[in-house]
Amino acid sequence: MNPTYIRTFMAYGESGVYRTRGPARAAKYGALAVMVRSLASNLDDFPHTGVTIYNDSFPKIPAVAISTNDAEWLSGQLKNNSVVSGYIRNTSTMLPDEPSFNVVGEIRGTQFPNEIITVGGHIDSWDLAEGAQDDGAGAVQSIEVLRVLKALGLKPKHSIRAVMFMNEENGGRGAEKYLEIAKAKNEKHIFGLESDAGGFTPRGFGLDMSADKIAKVQSWKNLFHDYGVCDLEAGGSGSDVGPLKQIGAALAGLSPDSQRYFDLHHAATDTFEAVSKRELELGAVNMAALIYLVDKYGL
Ligand SMILES: [Zn+2]
Repeated sequence: MNPTYIRTFMAYGESGVYRTRGPARAAKYGALAVMVRSLASNLDDFPHTGVTIYNDSFPKIPAVAISTNDAEWLSGQLKNNSVVSGYIRNTSTMLPDEPSFNVVGEIRGTQFPNEIITVGGHIDSWDLAEGAQDDGAGAVQSIEVLRVLKALGLKPKHSIRAVMFMNEENGGRGAEKYLEIAKAKNEKHIFGLESDAGGFTPRGFGLDMSADKIAKVQSWKNLFHDYGVCDLEAGGSGSDVGPLKQIGAALAGLSPDSQRYFDLHHAATDTFEAVSKRELELGAVNMAALIYLVDKYGL
């Protein structure tokens, strides 16, 4: 990943193609297997894995992620024109689909119960990790938004749902299903907020909505400023609330500090112990504040 990008998600977005599309491309040219350098910001001994997309026209060759330390070593060997041989034993297999579910909690709105504000993260994780940052953090922050509103005795005008989406990592079918049900029930979705960038110190919100709505959120900037949440700009929301745009929802995504996210992302190091309770809570209360403001003043 290109270390000159201060926003690490940009580096991930740019380099991700080598893991997602590289194996299919290599198979086209006759490769027997592929080793991909882990998409990680740091040097460590842990493979960081993720989605790989094959092409039906070519063989589904084995593809493995190797740690950044191993990739550095291998690169050094190849630069010295050393002859390097490797052995891959891959026991991974694609199992058939099984039923699974989104998990939804809701506070019914007092004035507009049929107008929905969704706050969510995803409940699945990449298989070699606990997925504490990706995305246990976003799931518990979403629950925390509802708890904070209740603890403060606030009764929102609109219905507010905390949604733990299923299957974000491997197809996004939880998000698709949520949209499908919303359409079938003719629900009005006014706002969707996602946390899926880790439970690190919050810096702002990415705003995926019209310019006038962005201006409205920016008019609240002094309320967030003291919490270090200063970056209220046009940006991405998240892949789970993303589909709600089709039915007119304004969207936002929590933007935490991104410098350490890809140290852990999709690796065995993404554990509960790696999450700072204080940073996690700071993100959650700012999410609750944004939900409160949208509920009270609209967009
Ligand atoms: Zn995620």
